[in-house]
Formats: sequence, structure tokens, C-alpha cells
Amino acid sequence: MKVTKALMPTLRDVPAEAEIVSHQLLVKAGFIRRNAAGIYSYLPLALRVLRKIETIVREEMDRSDAQELLLPIMQPAELWSESGRWDVYGDEMFRLKDRHNRDFCLGPTHEEIITDVVRGEVKSYKQLPMNLYQIQNKYRDERRPRFGLMRGREFIMKDAYSFDRDSAGLDDSYQTMFDTYVKIFDRMGLDYRPVEADSGAIGGDDTHEFMVLAENGEALIAYCSSCSYASNVEITEINDTAKEKLSEKPLLKVATPDKKTIEEVAAHLEVPQDNTLKTLVFDADGEKIVVVIRGDRILNEIKLKRLLKTDFLEKADEESIQNLFNCDPGYISPLGINEITVYADNEVKYMTDAVCGANEEGYHYLHANTDRDFGEMTFSDLREVVEGDLCPKCNEPLIFARGIEVGQVFKLGTKYSESLSAKYLDENGKEQIMVMGCYGIGVSRTMAACVEQNYDDRGIIWPKEIAPYQIVVIPVQTNDELQYTEAEKIYKELLAKGYEVMLDDRKERVGVKFNDADLIGYPLRITVGKKIADGIIEYKERNQSESEQIQPDELYDKIATFFKK
Ligand code: ATP
Ligand code: MG
Repeated sequence: MKVTKALMPTLRDVPAEAEIVSHQLLVKAGFIRRNAAGIYSYLPLALRVLRKIETIVREEMDRSDAQELLLPIMQPAELWSESGRWDVYGDEMFRLKDRHNRDFCLGPTHEEIITDVVRGEVKSYKQLPMNLYQIQNKYRDERRPRFGLMRGREFIMKDAYSFDRDSAGLDDSYQTMFDTYVKIFDRMGLDYRPVEADSGAIGGDDTHEFMVLAENGEALIAYCSSCSYASNVEITEINDTAKEKLSEKPLLKVATPDKKTIEEVAAHLEVPQDNTLKTLVFDADGEKIVVVIRGDRILNEIKLKRLLKTDFLEKADEESIQNLFNCDPGYISPLGINEITVYADNEVKYMTDAVCGANEEGYHYLHANTDRDFGEMTFSDLREVVEGDLCPKCNEPLIFARGIEVGQVFKLGTKYSESLSAKYLDENGKEQIMVMGCYGIGVSRTMAACVEQNYDDRGIIWPKEIAPYQIVVIPVQTNDELQYTEAEKIYKELLAKGYEVMLDDRKERVGVKFNDADLIGYPLRITVGKKIADGIIEYKERNQSESEQIQPDELYDKIATFFKK
């Protein structure tokens, strides 16, 4: 391809709305253009990268015996009602009606449709296991579409669904997909980690997220400094062990007028925040519950939801707390609470000499001792992990890193096969429910994640496996006949050898061409300038700072070695 014929509109400036590097560079280098919030056109360079990512995904999925199909984007509401998700999916679902006023949605995911297809076609144990996948646009009306392709409202996903006879079969399918994802992300040259993740309150089944490590990642992961443990901090387990008791002083009521927050109370009473107790009230499935954690800790609501096995959890409003405790929320505590179920973080169990509310406006207690002073509590791991907490596997300190979730593997079990009746006949002719898994990769997000990991102050540095073009050939003076003819000759020869090459035939200053080449991020740049008269051209790898002067006949071996062809 010649640059004069291509649509690759590089920009000098970055659009103001682009907050993170991948968004800035993909716009600046002419890969994507925004049409509406979270909705983008993929220009030719982007499409080439996406196709390469898809090819890697396809090759590895096919190798794992998964089969590709293509499901409809438009999905009838009936199937979603059957699974029970039509009413609970919420505002993230794009809904529409046909001319007969029937409800449809634009697929945010495809469990319902695939289960509908499989229940119609698969009837016998002999047809199982089966794994089906597609690569297609997904639609989610995200609350905050942002960061360019990272969180779009229309985005490309590879989604796969496995169907097995039983849970042992699902374990195998899951492991195969896990291993396949490792191969896929390895091939893309990404620095990533599979981490244990949240499977939702009801699920409780295995799930891993594949996280590309990057400063701008929305996710926080905790990994062990010593063993291979890694998890999304949403679910990182904490083993809080027994602590030494501080004192056995009797409870002492003290005035704390207008001191309601942990910070205010701790400062006023001159005690460290880690020796205070925070009491919170929630609405869980319509019932009020109380949660107690150490004052300096943050409650992890995902852990609480898992403990309560509910998806519906909300902080209680001030008024209902006031009614329940007969005092301002700033002074409440578990002291003397009987009618309400109290949950407490494990750490609270060992607390002595702590500060807690007096359930009376303007007062707190000193010297509270959980064992001695509080009624019945259910203890569980409920707090958010902090860096330096100990690894749940080996007790060494945990380290934090930011990550971009590019894929997730998930054991669904029988959630959809049961509600949608996906059954098969076993060896004895007995009806059994299929056991399912689902496996997603954010294809368009992966492209952005890759940029997030591979750039410098001049632009993108594409890993060679997914670069839009492998090589750019630049004649310094397009007007100079010798330079242009030699450049074009090299360009044609490289094309004939099967490389993906751009010839920058624009009559621009060479500085402009170099800037664009670096911005776009071609892995190799070949420059033909004045020295061609002495049989010398310039070879430069995008991720090296120095270029090399070489003779044209050395070029092809060098390129072959670079691409290991
Ligand atoms: P997130 O927590 O980031 O919203 P998710 O858990 O909702 O992701 P899945 O339903 O597991 O995502 O989708 C599979 C993959 O699709 C994700 O791992 C991610 O790479 C990608 N993905 C999800 N939502 C978006 C989005 N809004 N824009 C781009 N890619 C997305
Ligand atoms: Mg999401």
C-alpha cells in the first residue's frame, strides 16, 4: 500500500477528551474516530490490527476444538424472560421494539441465544462436550463509556460457550480454555496475569480474569511477592489471625459532640483510627443488617454480597438508621443490638480497648472489647485488602498492580441450561441438564490494552504479531528519481516476499514521514536517502533508538531474522 492512497489521518494534536495514552495515540495515529460516546469507527489501520488479533484468537480457539458460529445481534425478549434476565439486566441493555411492538435487545452477551440454539440441536451425550464461539459486536449502554476502546458501548468480543455432561467435564473445558487464553495472550506479546475473580453473589463458581498489567488499568490486582497467587482485589481473601489483647478496662462513656466520622472521633479522643470501630447499616434484599469493621478499613461490598448470597445490597439511608437506632448514624455501634443481624469483619473479633459509638447522640465508648461487650455477630472476611496484607496461600506480603481486563473465563454451571431447559439423554436414556462455561475476550479492548503497554513519547510501538503493517519504506526525497526508484523496488520486493509494507510516497519533508512512522508504530522502517548513490540504506527497528546503515543486499536476511520467517 502506498501512503498517498491510504486513509491514515494522523493528527498533530490530541483531542481533549482522550484521557489515557491508548485513546490519545489511537486517535492521533489515525486508527479510530469517535462517532458518539463509546461508539467508534475503526479506520483501516485499526481494522488490520483487529483482524490480526482475531486471527490469533481464531487459530487458538480452533486448535482447542472450539467451533466458530455467528449468532444474531438482535435478540428477542422472550429468551431473556425465560432466563429471568430481561427484568434484571437493567439500563446497560439497549432495548428496542419491532413494528409489531415486540421487544428485542441488542446483545450485550449471548448465553440465552446460544443455549436456545444448543437445546434445539444437541440431544445426546454423544454430542457432548461441545464448545462454540463467535467474534462479534456487543452492545452495552455503559454508565461511563470512556477511555476510547477500553469501555465502549459498541465493542468487539470473542465469546465462547462450552456444554458438558457434568461438572467434571466442565472442569476440563474450563482448563482447556484457560490454557488457550494463555497461548492467545502470549502470542500477542502482552504482559498479563490470570487472576482469581468475582463470580457474582449467586455464582460461587470458578472464574479467572486475564489482566494486562498497565498503570491506567481500571482494575486493581493483588499478587503474591513469593508464590503464584494473584486475584482481583474485589475478592482477595484475607486471613486475619488472632491479635494480642490490649487491655481489659471497663467501658467508659465519653462525650464526642459533633464528632461523627472516624477521623473526627479518633482525633478528638487521641486514639489511632485502627483502634476504632465503624458500624454500617445496609438494606440487603429488603432486610436491614448491620456490618462492623475496623475504623480505618474499607468494607468490601462484593465479599458482603457473597456472604449474604444476594445481588441486592444498598447502604441504608440516614432516616432509616435514625429510626432503627434512635440516634444519629454518626454515633451507632453494635452495643446492645439484638433485633438486627450483625456481621463483622474477622479483624473485629480480636479487638479490645476500642472506640465505638454509644448509640446516643454526642457520645462514644472507650475500651470496647468485642468478646465481652457485643452480642451475637457473624464473623467473616469482609474488608478490602491493602498492600502488604499476607498472601492467603503462603503468608508472604501481597503487592498491588493495576490491570486491564482483556478476558474472562467462567464456570456457569447449570444457571442457563436449567432456566432454558438445555437437556440431553445420558447413556441410560435418562434426561440430564447440560453444564455450561463461558469465555470472553474483549478484542477491541485488547487492541487498546496493547497500546497501553507498548508506546514511547513518539507514538505506538506495535508488537510485530499484531502491527497493522510490518514495514514502512521511506524515500527521503520522493522527487529524487534514484531514491524513489530504489525505495519502490525494495517495497515491491518485500511485498513479493509476503511482507505487509507501506511505501511513504508523499512529497513531504522526511521529518514528517519519520514522525508519522513512529506515531503509527511500524515495527521496521527502511529509509532510502542520498547515500543510496553509495549503495547504503538505513534500517531501523521501532523499539531501538539507533538506526543502522546497511547495503540493500543485506536487507532481506535482516528482515527475515527480525520477523523469524
Ligand atoms: P468490565 O468489568 O470491564 O465491565 P465485564 O466483566 O462486564 O467487564 P465480560 O462480560 O466478562 O466483561 O466481557 C468479556 C470481555 O469483554 C471483558 O473481559 C472485556 O475485555 C470486554 N469488555 C467488556 N465490556 C467492555 C466494554 N464496555 N468495552 C470494551 N470491551 C469490553
Ligand atoms: Mg461490564
